[in-house]
Amino acid sequence: MKFKEIDIRPSDLMKLKEPALEHDKQFLLARKDEFIKVNCPACCSDDHSEWAIKDNFDYTICNQCNTVFMNPRANELLLADFYKQSKNYEFWNKYIFPASDEIRKERIFKPRAQKVIDFCNKHEINGTILEVGAAYGTFCEAIKGFNYFQRIIAVEPTPDLAETCRKKDLEVFQEPIENVKLPNDSIDVVVSFEVMEHLFNPKDFILNCTSMLKKGGLFICTCPSIDGLGTLVLKEKAKVIDHEHLNYFSPSSLALLFQDCSLEIVEVSTPGELDVDLLKNAFLENPEDFSDQQFISKILSSEEENIRNNFQDFLKKNLLSSHLWIIGRKK
Ligand SMILES: [Zn+2]
Repeated sequence: MKFKEIDIRPSDLMKLKEPALEHDKQFLLARKDEFIKVNCPACCSDDHSEWAIKDNFDYTICNQCNTVFMNPRANELLLADFYKQSKNYEFWNKYIFPASDEIRKERIFKPRAQKVIDFCNKHEINGTILEVGAAYGTFCEAIKGFNYFQRIIAVEPTPDLAETCRKKDLEVFQEPIENVKLPNDSIDVVVSFEVMEHLFNPKDFILNCTSMLKKGGLFICTCPSIDGLGTLVLKEKAKVIDHEHLNYFSPSSLALLFQDCSLEIVEVSTPGELDVDLLKNAFLENPEDFSDQQFISKILSSEEENIRNNFQDFLKKNLLSSHLWIIGRKK
């Protein structure tokens, strides 16, 4: 059976979280005078143009590498305050994650762990793996189940989440990655899933993540791609464009940033499963957004499920899914 958005985001709960989201947006907007202007987070160029305004947040596009980014944006201190008070995260922790935990484990985290292991196996890398932003420890737990790595480290600064990781018997560093003190050259693989898009300064984050990697060690990262179906069709109306996401890299712009951080690119792929299903749900919710999109509308409204499955496969194979994976090797 194909995996659907509703499996991991039950729709009745997603509606209930709207007030929490609104509260979070207002928290940031109330402090918009503290936002600061930045250069492109991928190539550092200051040559950019307006891309869109959504919910009073401004997004620009880099004229050199086409990365889209919120600009101006909250700085690190404001972001730390924001995530501490976030009603949206509270809601996810309380309702959405518990209701979808099992299916997430089976459909997201086990395949993700398998993919990381297959990749490491192919490149003859094992030893120690460290996850930055381990949250509930679901990935670490899944990868532990495969008995492939000798040591698994979860880095999670949020106290409640770090406690959940400890309860799962994981080795936990309860601090931000820049404060983690491990010897240089002590880690074989660092992974970071869906963190990069939230950061004030992605380059500093990558440098911190890779500082303790051995030479030849791997940095594996996932984040949304601006060149994915959702934003190509809906631009800022796509749900991924929101107040929490500051950086929207493309496969090529993230590769540029990796290279700038002394990482050799080993793989860039978009193995997403959900783009067409997400867009179909957006179509059912707001058909008027698709009034000048005949081609996509035909696919989304077809009675032939197979057309959508084939289309998703096409997106995956051609770097056009919005779920981006990138793997770099430390030089
Ligand atoms: Zn750029």
